[in-house]
Amino acid sequence: MSVVKSVERPTMECETEHFLMAQSQLDEIALEMGLDPDIHERLRYPKRALIVTVPVRMDNGSVKTFTGYRVHHDTTLGPGKGGVRFHPDVSLGEVSGLAMLMTWKCALMGLPYGGAKGGIRCDAPTLSMGEKERLTRRYTSEIINLIGPDKDIPAPDMYTNEQTMAWMMDTYSINVGHTVPSVVTGKPVSIGGSLGRNEATGRGVAYCVKRACEHIGLKVASPSVVIQGFGNVGGIAATLLHEQGYKVVAVSDVHGGIYNPAGLDIPRLQAYVSEMGRVPDFAGGESVTNSEMLTLPCDVLVPAALGNQIHAGNANKLDCKIVVEGANGPTSPEADLLLHDRGILVVPDILANAGGVTVSYFEWVQGLMHLFWTEEEVNKRLETIMGRACDQVFEMTKKTGMRPRMSALRIGIGRLAEAKKLRGLYP
Ligand code: NAD
Repeated sequence: MSVVKSVERPTMECETEHFLMAQSQLDEIALEMGLDPDIHERLRYPKRALIVTVPVRMDNGSVKTFTGYRVHHDTTLGPGKGGVRFHPDVSLGEVSGLAMLMTWKCALMGLPYGGAKGGIRCDAPTLSMGEKERLTRRYTSEIINLIGPDKDIPAPDMYTNEQTMAWMMDTYSINVGHTVPSVVTGKPVSIGGSLGRNEATGRGVAYCVKRACEHIGLKVASPSVVIQGFGNVGGIAATLLHEQGYKVVAVSDVHGGIYNPAGLDIPRLQAYVSEMGRVPDFAGGESVTNSEMLTLPCDVLVPAALGNQIHAGNANKLDCKIVVEGANGPTSPEADLLLHDRGILVVPDILANAGGVTVSYFEWVQGLMHLFWTEEEVNKRLETIMGRACDQVFEMTKKTGMRPRMSALRIGIGRLAEAKKLRGLYP
């Protein structure tokens, strides 16, 4: 049995509520699977963490400083891999917890990567393009020793996108003296990005919705779906699910949501959001708040915005059969147990939103080979990898009766534990 002697060591700076939530998942599965206590202890903390101060010349001529982070949780299986987010809640604890999730996710998907994450604490929508560019470039140069195609490969996350990755790639390339496309993924196709990468996370989410409906034997011609978040993940999942014949009845963004039990016209909504920059006030449905959204009756709920949206306070009010976690960490550990007791299937984040990192891996491979694939090829390979991971997780869930989250963790952590054992402990 795995026993953690946490009293014997002082608290680490990253041990915030957010980080402890990720760590508690590891502790739970470590006990369940009888993980070697030495390996368990090594996996409970990030391998390295960097905090940087990022000074930026603002448009009004003043200089403002921002705090940035880059964390490597584990790099046993390969270079670190993980997004960069720009958000006011970014902290060492949040980034460390997310880096840990990336380790499990890459191992579960069978990708040759470790787990990393980064971010800058800022309110991105209030920054001009020029301010965002200067912030991104200075952040990149401050973390430059940690990143590189063989070390750690950043990608977009909340409030960062293809343009952010283009600035990161350019800054890195200028500093090392030659063009290095494979230092980031999720960059524009014209500078070495992969076809299908922009849609990959949403595509993977839509695929998991289909597989989850099959898994519970849902016999509904057009299952109804509620999606919280209408950005890269939620917006693309909504479009693909709508195209595939699902009835998307509600979507929301940071400003609020829109609900139509007969189904929303997603192409019209997309056009509206492109023009107006927000979901609420769209004419095709009634307004709902973000908290009301989560308890609307539906077959499938897709939280695709922030973490910790489904918690002990609202888990009993959810009115769905399946939750597919598009966002990272949208369900608290208490809520996960409550949903399981209520018979609601939760497809965990490390599986449901792994389409992004999987196609990031394809982008990295294509960049290193200088040989690029068609979009059809990318989507086919994505489906093969997502399909294999879904099969493994659902099979383990059936066999053991564990929650799918625990099955996914067990598979990922089991692979990593084997690799750590084989590599041994240096020195
Ligand atoms: P994004 O910035 O493109 O979109 C975020 C969306 O969430 C926007 O519609 C925004 O308005 C909405 N939002 C923000 N705050 C909200 C709130 N309080 N309530 C409701 N909606 C709110 O970000 P994204 O890339 O779509 O990422 C969304 C989530 O998916 C994050 O948790 C991210 O870590 C995760 N994720 C993203 C990727 C990827 O490839 N983009 C991959 C894996 C996981």
